[in-house]
Amino acid sequence: MRPNLVWFRDDLRVTDNPALHAAWAGGAPLICLYIVDETPPLRPSGGAARWWLQHSLTRLSETLEKLGATLVLCRGDAAEIMRDVATTGAIGAVFWNDRYVPEAAAKDKAITRLLAGHNIPVHRFNGNYLNPPEAILNSSGGPFKVFTPYWHAVLRRGIFTLPLDPPKRINGARWPSRAAPAISISELAPRPLPWMESLAANWQPGERSALRALETFLDKKLQGYAGKRDAPADDATSRLSPHLRFGEISPLQIWHAVEIARQTGEFSSQDIDKFINELIWREYACHVLHHFPSLSVDSHIRNFDRISWLNESAQIRAWQEGRTGFPLVDAGMRQLWQTGWMHNRVRMIVGSFLVKHLLCDWRIGENWFWNTLVDADQANNVFGWQWTAGCGFDASPFHRIFNPVLQSERFDPKGAYIRRYVPELAHLPNQLIHTPWKAPADLSRKFKAASYPEPIIDLAAARQRALNALNAAKDETNY
Ligand code: FAD
Repeated sequence: MRPNLVWFRDDLRVTDNPALHAAWAGGAPLICLYIVDETPPLRPSGGAARWWLQHSLTRLSETLEKLGATLVLCRGDAAEIMRDVATTGAIGAVFWNDRYVPEAAAKDKAITRLLAGHNIPVHRFNGNYLNPPEAILNSSGGPFKVFTPYWHAVLRRGIFTLPLDPPKRINGARWPSRAAPAISISELAPRPLPWMESLAANWQPGERSALRALETFLDKKLQGYAGKRDAPADDATSRLSPHLRFGEISPLQIWHAVEIARQTGEFSSQDIDKFINELIWREYACHVLHHFPSLSVDSHIRNFDRISWLNESAQIRAWQEGRTGFPLVDAGMRQLWQTGWMHNRVRMIVGSFLVKHLLCDWRIGENWFWNTLVDADQANNVFGWQWTAGCGFDASPFHRIFNPVLQSERFDPKGAYIRRYVPELAHLPNQLIHTPWKAPADLSRKFKAASYPEPIIDLAAARQRALNALNAAKDETNY
């Protein structure tokens, strides 16, 4: 019996992995493969995601080893690597869980054709979303352009499958010697930077940690989630996003765990529904990018691309480094730099500040997040940025400009989050923590806040400038 090849991609887990399960259940020996493919048009991973990937692959490799298989790692164009392995005649069929980022999906289509030419069937599964993006369509058979009806359609359709158990034992097969050379996981290690130590202090990639994060969420955070999820100082959200991004846990596992929690009657339906709603935003972002593939580069509201962006480099640098003089914005940007993650509410605030107050193209922010987030995900990131900027699907309108001071007073009233990430301000009293520029010089010195920068813009003037720029670009038929 020729071995089956399981091609791992955004599904670095053995539990509830439909492709692995099906390949294993057939009884054939298995080759487990991961390909680091950054050839155009695929987008190369950012630094933080690369760090995560290396550790996640290490964990997956250890798990597979215990089950009896070896994780083979190759680097290069996946189409060429697949062609090489197909030419050896050593594999029977290929199994994978579908990817939906348009460039990756197009590549998978081409590889399917290529393998068919060698009489090698591809067995495709949906493993990383509750529903594949084409499964939920509106009454005219098209994609949903607004979230709420999409969400209702997901709930109407229902979720009927149960998560799959991991294989008990795998009959591992060898990588054919005439196929592309395998590399070791350590060759993926990014150039070591002090930044990476702080990632390691904050995160543990891998399937086991993903399950632990889910358990912690259910035990300690689900209760009260709806009320607390917007407060960045509270560790009140699941922090499952990087685990979901790399497929160390499936949304189906999460959905079922939450539904089981619901049945205990110990949790309010408000908390549970809000959390499920967030999971569905992830599905919706995938749905939208799948149906509108140019969204990674083009604003959905096309007139937005006529705005005359300032893109002023010193201000962009101040934003990236958390030196804008606006405490909540700076706390968020420093949280991102130090931990590879940022609280959702703060992502919206720093995004609005960059695009609207600094009048910078949303793609600049999207790219910075792509490089620094451990959960950097093409669909969620593009969706989040277009939503925040006001040019995306079901987006916050452009003229809704978050005031970073009011947001700070509302969501971090005592400045606990600011004090954690902006230590220069740690000793300021609550009345000054959101507006340190109002502190007289002697008080600022007394509270050791003198080294904190002055605001790089005047908020009211910048707001007006943004509205003027929008009006200049606006086409009445589109807004
Ligand atoms: P929880 O509140 O515990 O939510 C559970 C899960 O639901 C998350 O893990 C995530 O997978 C999903 N989710 C939650 N909120 C959203 C949302 N608004 N949109 C889509 N899915 C959501 N998320 C990413 O995973 N990768 C990104 O690259 C990314 N970029 C973003 C950029 C901007 C400008 C904005 C505003 C949001 C972005 N998000 C992104 C969405 C969101 O901020 C994160 O998913 C969330 O903060 C992750 O924290 P959590 O796991 O504790 O979330």
